[in-house]
Amino acid sequence: MTERPTAVVTGASSGIGAATARALAKSGFHVVLGARRVDRCAEIAAEIDGTAVRLDVTDNESVDAFAAAVPDAKLLVNNAGGAKGLEPVAQADEDDWRWMFETNVLGTLRVTKALLPALIASGDGHIVTVTSIAGVEIYDNGAGYTGAKHAQGVLHRTLRGELLGQPVRLTEILPGMVETDFSLVRFDGDAQRAADVYKGITPLTADDIADVIAFAATRPSNVNLDQIVVKPRAQASATRAYREA
Ligand code: NAP
Repeated sequence: MTERPTAVVTGASSGIGAATARALAKSGFHVVLGARRVDRCAEIAAEIDGTAVRLDVTDNESVDAFAAAVPDAKLLVNNAGGAKGLEPVAQADEDDWRWMFETNVLGTLRVTKALLPALIASGDGHIVTVTSIAGVEIYDNGAGYTGAKHAQGVLHRTLRGELLGQPVRLTEILPGMVETDFSLVRFDGDAQRAADVYKGITPLTADDIADVIAFAATRPSNVNLDQIVVKPRAQASATRAYREA
């Protein structure tokens, strides 16, 4: 048995999720890392004395099995997600849209529902959801992703009201540009196109976001950081950034 409180991080096999698992372990949590690439989660778990459990947030059976392996969660970080494609609505790919809504929105719904009883039973639970500035802004060619992130944000913000009176805090993290595998996934493995997203700019790193999540998670239980927007200095909005020539 571990004395450390348990934190669950979804999408912990890379990027923000992996960095968050490390930051939370440093803050004293026993971290349960979930993702489809469980081998990557297992490597990180070994490094931070955590636990890796396979998780596909688009699959109810997988979510149920995952939740059964985590009876005592105190903190849930809904991080699994991402974007596919960058097309105008007129050329929208339905499969890409389905992937984005299944992963970001329904994935967050499934995992939150499955772990909520444990979070409440802990007496001091906390749900952190990584949405995006795409959850409050729109941009051309991005409707599939901005639509999904808006919906994920609405789910999270609605829960904030619905859980009033319960011992659960809710924090939404809205990152701007963070250099991870995000763009590689969005552009289906096109490394050049992915690198161009960050050209001439110093983006955030996954560790920058992980630091903020760990800060929110380690405030006293009466302190609820509701929404935290984090952008690189050179980015003013989803559509305005300053790039060095
Ligand atoms: P990333 O490096 O591509 O990480 C995405 C993570 O999501 C991976 O660990 C992946 O794991 C997991 N994932 C995807 N589908 C999944 C599924 N069906 N079941 C379980 N896990 C799944 O990108 P990232 O930037 O760290 O993204 C993390 C979150 O931050 C996402 O919600 C993203 O929308 C959000 N965000 C990113 C940025 C940015 O600029 N990077 C900005 C704002 C918000 P497996 O593939 O192993 O399952």
